[in-house]
Amino acid sequence: MDLGAGTSSLDAMVAGGEPRGSSVYSRLHNPTVARFEEALATLEGAEVAVAFASGMAALTACLLAHVGPGGHVVACRPLYGGSDHLLTSGLLGIEVTWTTPDEVHAAVRPDTAMVLIETPANPTLDLWDIASLVEQAGRVPVLVDSTFATPVLQQPLSHGARWVLHSGTKFLGGHGDVLAGVVATDREAAAALRQVRLVTGGVLHPLAGYLLHRGLQTLPVRVRAAQAGAQALAERLTADPAVARVWFPGLDGADPQGLLGRQLAGPGCVLSFELSGGYEAANRLVQALRLITPAVSLGSTDTLIQHPAALTHRVLSDEARAEAGIRPGMLRLSVGLEAVDDLWADLSVGLAAVRRRAPSIARPVA
Ligand code: PLP
Repeated sequence: MDLGAGTSSLDAMVAGGEPRGSSVYSRLHNPTVARFEEALATLEGAEVAVAFASGMAALTACLLAHVGPGGHVVACRPLYGGSDHLLTSGLLGIEVTWTTPDEVHAAVRPDTAMVLIETPANPTLDLWDIASLVEQAGRVPVLVDSTFATPVLQQPLSHGARWVLHSGTKFLGGHGDVLAGVVATDREAAAALRQVRLVTGGVLHPLAGYLLHRGLQTLPVRVRAAQAGAQALAERLTADPAVARVWFPGLDGADPQGLLGRQLAGPGCVLSFELSGGYEAANRLVQALRLITPAVSLGSTDTLIQHPAALTHRVLSDEARAEAGIRPGMLRLSVGLEAVDDLWADLSVGLAAVRRRAPSIARPVA
């Protein structure tokens, strides 16, 4: 073998480009991972996609490549607790200004390098108008974490975002058996991401790349089926007296900006609800469940339930959690592919357990 062939391929990849023939080493390039990247880029309408070992590795690479120590980010709460913590902790030496989506323009400074949002947001399912944010951000590029939407329901790049990020651990893999992250973007931004990935080593395992690529084949079918279940459960939860509030974009009044249909093709498969009885009631409900799995992930074929204040957003300060709209009685439900009546039967057992301990919110007896 000609040694020069490996060297020129290595040089191309160190500069953030594609390999020239030889992959050289698995941390630099893997053809199975590249196949998944190509498919995801197509689904997002992007020039390219860059896959990572996890959603957090993907976000870290975006921040290191495009903001860097001393840089400034504008972000809107809520974000996934890990993402919020990555920014707030100062671990990467990045300064963050938290603001609301309608005040992004005021928060942007001459040194702002990125505006960061999640829509639908974890765990309040807030929908933010991407095109309006992009307009407000002006010259500052916008990163959208679109994990909850998947490319089946939303393509942020078509609304002007520069990066769309997914925790592939969720719907893209879809079966709760891979950990992955991916960013779809333009060639220039992707080159910087690949450079960070190459030196930090946050690469996607090829087996995960294979499972993700296979998972994409059923993504639209899974999303449509789980979404129908989520809509039915959101409506039934809304009618239950133990439930103080339900967050789900498909409910009446939940989309005041009219983004459903315009930006988001459907309400998605995740909902949150708050029990009037607070943390104790949430704990009782979860303990009574037999079919729904208590687990922090989402986007699986199995329906998963978790308590954001105690788990996914535990790491936030009390103030940040309150600002993010996360309440002590709130549970997040990621609806899977089980029969909706079976899921409702399970939730009903949980809700009955809550009512038994809370006579003041018991159903009135006819
Ligand atoms: N973004 C969102 C919206 C998430 O919900 C999560 C994880 O729950 C992440 C990013 C982080 O992804 P990962 O767990 O794959 O690192």
